[in-house]
Amino acid sequence: MQTGFTPEMLRDKNVAEAEGILRSCVHCGFCTATCPTYQVLGDELDSPRGRIYLIKDMLENGRAADAKTVKHIDRCLSCFACMSTCPSGVNYMHLLDHARAHIQKTYRRPIMDRINRWILAQVLPYPPRFRLAIRAANLARVFKWLLPGFQRNLINFAPKHLPPVSQNDRPQVFAAFGERKKRVALMTGCAQQVLNTDINDATIRLLQRLGCEVVVATGAACCGALTHHMGKTGDSHRSAANNINAWMAEVDGDGLDAIVINTSGCGTTVKDYGHMFRNAALAEPAAKISALAKDVSEVLEDLDLPENCAQPMNVAYHAACSLQHGQQIKNAPKDLLRRVGFTVCEPKDAYLCCGSAGTYNLLQVEIANNLKQRKVSAIEATTPNVICAGNLGCMIQIGSGTDIPVVHTVQLLDWATGGPSPRALLPERGK
Ligand code: SF4
Ligand code: SF4
Repeated sequence: MQTGFTPEMLRDKNVAEAEGILRSCVHCGFCTATCPTYQVLGDELDSPRGRIYLIKDMLENGRAADAKTVKHIDRCLSCFACMSTCPSGVNYMHLLDHARAHIQKTYRRPIMDRINRWILAQVLPYPPRFRLAIRAANLARVFKWLLPGFQRNLINFAPKHLPPVSQNDRPQVFAAFGERKKRVALMTGCAQQVLNTDINDATIRLLQRLGCEVVVATGAACCGALTHHMGKTGDSHRSAANNINAWMAEVDGDGLDAIVINTSGCGTTVKDYGHMFRNAALAEPAAKISALAKDVSEVLEDLDLPENCAQPMNVAYHAACSLQHGQQIKNAPKDLLRRVGFTVCEPKDAYLCCGSAGTYNLLQVEIANNLKQRKVSAIEATTPNVICAGNLGCMIQIGSGTDIPVVHTVQLLDWATGGPSPRALLPERGK
C-alpha cells in the first residue's frame, strides 16, 4: 500500500513504525474472510482492511480521530484472526495499538463513554476495588432497571457469589515436589484472583507436582492489557513497568526459567512488553521479561506430564483468540489433554472469537452476544462432557450461554494427575 507521510511525520518513531505496517498491506482482502466483526456486520469498515484504510487516512493526514473512525476501531475485538490469515505478515496488532493511543489522545468521547471506560480502567485491574464493585453490583441488582445500559450490563455480568481470597495469590515461594527441574514465576493476575481462584491453585499444584518451584513475585500485579487495549498507554505502561521490575528482582535473585501465564489475554500483552518499551529506558529488561513469558501450556510441554491417567471424557477445546492468534499457540493445549487421556473435540470455525475479548462484551454487547451464540452452538454440536479454555474471559463468556460445565485447561490436567475434581464438574456444580 502506498502512503503519503511527510519526512517530518516520520521522525516520530511510532508513526514511522505504523507507516511500515501500512506499506506491508497489499489490500488483498484475505483477512476479511476470518474477521468476526465483518462476518456479523458485513460492512467493509468493520473488516481489517477497512480499518487499516481508516487508520491510514487518520494518521497520514495528521488529523484527530473522528467519530466514524472511532466507531469502527472500537468494534474491533483485537482477536487477531486477521493476522493468522494475512499472507503478507501485516502486524495489525501494533498498528491497532498505535491507532487506539492516537484516538485516546485526540478524540473526546461522549461523557457517558468516558465515564464507563474510566470505571473499567479504575476497577477491574485492582482486586480489592473489583471485589467491592461486585458486592455493590449485587446490592444494586434489585433496581438495575433504573440504571443506564452499561451499568445494567455490569450488574448482569457480576457473579452472585465470589470465592474467598486465595492465600496462594500472595507473594511466596512454593517448593517443587521431588527434584527441582525449573524455577518459574506465576503471574496471578488481577480479575482472575477475584472471579476464579481455582485456576491459579490448580496451576501451582500441577507445576509443583511436575518439579517446578513456583514463585509469586512481590509487587507483580495487573499486566496492563485492559488499559492497553483502551489506548490508555500511560496506565498500561505503568502496570507493565511495575511487573517488569517485580520479575526482574527474581531474575537477578534466584533466577527464573519462565514466567508462567494462565490467562492468554494477559500472556499476549506480557510477550509484547519488549515492543511496548522498545524506545524507553526499560527496553532491555522488558525484552528479557517478554522472552521469559510463556503460556502455561508451553511450560507444561517441557515437563513430564504422565500419560493416560484421566477419566474417559469428551472435552471440547475452545481456542482463545489470544492463544491461537495472539501467541500462535494452536496445538500444545490439545496435545496435553490428549496425552493425559481425554478425548478432545474440536468445534467448527474454531478461529472465530467467542465475543469476550477483554471488556468487549461489556462495551459492544450486541456483537459479543451474536458471537457467543455462534460459538456455543458450534461447541454444543460436539456434545462434550466439559468445555475447556486457556483464558478466564472466554470461560465466563461461553459459560453464560450454556449449561455444559466450563473449566480451564490446567484444571483438567491437574485433576488427571492427582488434583481435585474441578468444582464445575462436581455433582452440585459449584458455579
Ligand atoms: S490479508 Fe493482509 S495484506 Fe491482505 S488486506 Fe488483509 S491485512 Fe492487508
Ligand atoms: S482483530 Fe479480529 S475483529 Fe479486529 S480486524 Fe482483526 S479479525 Fe477483525
